Amino acid sequence: MTDYAGNLDRAFEQMPDYLTTDVRFSVPGVDVIIEGKTTVLRNFLEITDTINRDPTHLLKYLLRELGTAGKFDGTRVIFQGKFTTETIQSQIQAYVDEFVICSECGRPDTTLVRSDRVLMLKCDACGAHRPIRKRKVREVQAKEPIEEGGVYDVKITGVGRKGDGFTQIDKYTIYVPKTIKGEIVSIKIKSISGTLAFAELLERKSE
Ligand SMILES: [Zn+2]
Repeated sequence: MTDYAGNLDRAFEQMPDYLTTDVRFSVPGVDVIIEGKTTVLRNFLEITDTINRDPTHLLKYLLRELGTAGKFDGTRVIFQGKFTTETIQSQIQAYVDEFVICSECGRPDTTLVRSDRVLMLKCDACGAHRPIRKRKVREVQAKEPIEEGGVYDVKITGVGRKGDGFTQIDKYTIYVPKTIKGEIVSIKIKSISGTLAFAELLERKSE
């Protein structure tokens, strides 16, 4: 008879400490600004550092999900087109759920490994591993960037012929009466027609 219990004891002693620590993991908040016709994610490398994933992998994911082009710019990433903070944040959350978080123990201490051409998420904390899900039908993509009744913070980027300020979110041009170019306002969408939308001014954030 081998000393089975003794072996088990030794095995437990050799387990790394992080099994007994309880570090809560949260996805870093995205720092997003619109610059002209582009959207800049200013803390991109901070995010990939925190989730411990390859920046190129996350960038490719975001470009596919957002359906746009983009590139690295130092520690930032620049996307073509305008995207809201919420859109970028929810895409990164979806990435983390799929490529980072262990579905068994909920921890982010994982690595991606390829096994028989299948990409697996291996958990360093609990030892679980699962295949990365096959891409589903784009449920996030199906959600429109704005909706009637929705409230958004925007920067007024121009003034139309009738004197109403307007801004753009993705493909939509949104008219907001009583606003002027350059101010940041909180608006509520009243109606959407094609790619045109009309909103009411809720609050002036700055001028
Ligand atoms: Zn785990």
